[in-house]
Amino acid sequence: MIRVGKQNRVFILTGAGVSAESGIPTFRGAGGLWRNYRIEAVASPEAWARDPVLVWEFYSMRRKMAKAARPNAAHVALAELESKIGERLFLCTQNVDNLHEQAGSTHVTHMHGELLKTRCERCLREPFADDACYEPPVAIPRCECGGKLRPHICWFGEVPFKLDSIFAELERCALFVAIGTSGVVEPAASFVAQVRARARTYYVGPELPANHSAFEECFQGEAGKIVPDLFRLD
Ligand code: NAD
Repeated sequence: MIRVGKQNRVFILTGAGVSAESGIPTFRGAGGLWRNYRIEAVASPEAWARDPVLVWEFYSMRRKMAKAARPNAAHVALAELESKIGERLFLCTQNVDNLHEQAGSTHVTHMHGELLKTRCERCLREPFADDACYEPPVAIPRCECGGKLRPHICWFGEVPFKLDSIFAELERCALFVAIGTSGVVEPAASFVAQVRARARTYYVGPELPANHSAFEECFQGEAGKIVPDLFRLD
């Protein structure tokens, strides 16, 4: 149980594990997405330059999976927490699915982008909602400017989104809770080390993450079972 004081700001970091019980495979676990694809072949700027058809094939497969998924009890509990403590909750996700939003969360910071958005590789047009699948024989979509349209995803080697607001929030949170993330993907893996001198730090997931020694306490179990009873509000 984590006590949330009346003034406390809560930073929650979610990873692929929070969506596992909704049927979206994690990257590294058994049945993980990378068993069928090599990371570098589908999720890097080099892959995009070399074989955009394969990249869109991979993200089209992930779009289908994400569109069929529904939030689980952990997503719902985090949306309820937002309805109770409002802007004192900062929900930062490494996930590119929209299950937090489907559950009712209204302020979600997607540091690795959003699967159901597309943007132009060339012009500054805003990323836009798009759930289409682009697999052969469907051609790679093009922007009005002529550039190729790409998934709105932070690929390996690219800089995550919204880092300014994330680091500002890490500076002022009293509680830091990571849920379902392996603790190896940077910069998210280092957030806990950054806040531990000032904030209470917790982890939720079935296995200990690689950075577990940086947490004050780890609640071992599935997010859908633990998160609904995790917070006690003062
Ligand atoms: P990861 O695949 O490296 O690790 C998943 C973690 O979730 C593991 O530590 C595992 O023990 C834990 N886990 C498994 N089942 C769980 C459950 N029921 N409850 C709680 N935890 C559970 O994922 P990561 O650390 O988030 O980082 C890898 C990258 O994967 C991120 O950049 C993210 O963008 C991407 N990713 C996103 C999705 C998604 O959007 N749903 C899916 C796969 C990967």
